[in-house]
Amino acid sequence: MSGRMFPASNDPLYGVSEAALRGSWYDIDLGAIRHNYRQLRGHLSAHVKVFACLKRNAYGCGAGPVASALACENIDGFAVASLLDALAIRRAGVSNPILLYPGVTPVGAAMVESLDLIVSVSSLDELQQWSAVVNTLRVFIKLDLGFFRAGVTPAGARKLVAVAMADPTVRVEGIYAHMSELPTVQPTDADAQHERLVGIITDLDNLGIRPPVVMMSSTDGVLNHPDMDFDAVDPGALFVGIGGSSTLARAVELRPALKAISTSLVCVKRLDPSLGPVPEIPGYKTDMTLGVIGMGWGDGLPRHIPEGAVGLVQGRRARLLAPAHLEHIRIDLTGIPNARTGDEVILLGRQGPEMITHDEVCAIWGTDAVGLYADLRDHVPRRYL
Ligand SMILES: *Cc1c(COP(=O)(O)O)cnc(C)c1O
Repeated sequence: MSGRMFPASNDPLYGVSEAALRGSWYDIDLGAIRHNYRQLRGHLSAHVKVFACLKRNAYGCGAGPVASALACENIDGFAVASLLDALAIRRAGVSNPILLYPGVTPVGAAMVESLDLIVSVSSLDELQQWSAVVNTLRVFIKLDLGFFRAGVTPAGARKLVAVAMADPTVRVEGIYAHMSELPTVQPTDADAQHERLVGIITDLDNLGIRPPVVMMSSTDGVLNHPDMDFDAVDPGALFVGIGGSSTLARAVELRPALKAISTSLVCVKRLDPSLGPVPEIPGYKTDMTLGVIGMGWGDGLPRHIPEGAVGLVQGRRARLLAPAHLEHIRIDLTGIPNARTGDEVILLGRQGPEMITHDEVCAIWGTDAVGLYADLRDHVPRRYL
């Protein structure tokens, strides 16, 4: 072997972008994220803080760049469920407060201290575990108001807050909850949960141990229940453009952060009889022009290609053909005689006169808007607009 050197992960890749080298990418519109923040901010009192929930790598849009864009809008802080998302935000040079949702255990203590993060605590045991390994522990107490997920129950809240407040090594900076999204939820449940929170806060007030920040509203709450703002809100989906409408208590016009899912043709050929009979799978035809795209179900596309799934090639709709493979999917190029290997294929977004909308993708792929963002994969490069 000669002593050849290859680029380190941060070096330029022979002058070609990662997106171009992979041949597939997501276009992310940071202007849309800033616009969506301003739509929300316009509805809130000046004293209400916004902690943008950037979990799952900012819903697949990239926690670092999304946090940088929101920091330019002077957002108050962020919330994530993973230390690696918090690290991405700090590496982007963003120093605003970051709340860690449940999901981080004290093995991350050194990073929590070094990145100056706020941890969530749902029990006396968690408080003890954390304060044993972090010198000055910044915490938000997490409440469960009826979601049956993480958080201390209303009955245990007073004791947990009191013990945390009495510990000189612990700084209790807030108390928060996440409204129930259980499938059994009833319209009146929001009010019941709100009442439970008000009851807890009143109790803590009477004891003189109310934490400085009270927070409960995510996207649904902040757009539908202005009375539940308290001191801070932590919506997430809203920033990527999900959940808005003009008919809500707070009318917002949101723009999607995901502008395009783009891939390219890795092969184009005309079928001929030397291949044997065409498979008896819907869409396969003798003499057709068959293309292969450079994305598959391993890149977040559906495991099974649904009826009606298409890509755009040269500004025209072309049918995707089952079955899906890990990195490849076939596409019927019969109506597009000039298609060539390397051509761009748009799976979501605009190409020439044609457009595949978020609604269309969600309907055909059998998902919803949050599901679509959750299926964005971190190994697919993002281009920021
Ligand atoms: C996901 C999440 C949010 C944000 O929810 P959206 O519906 O995306 O606004 C807020 N708080 C917690 C605890 C969450 O898990």
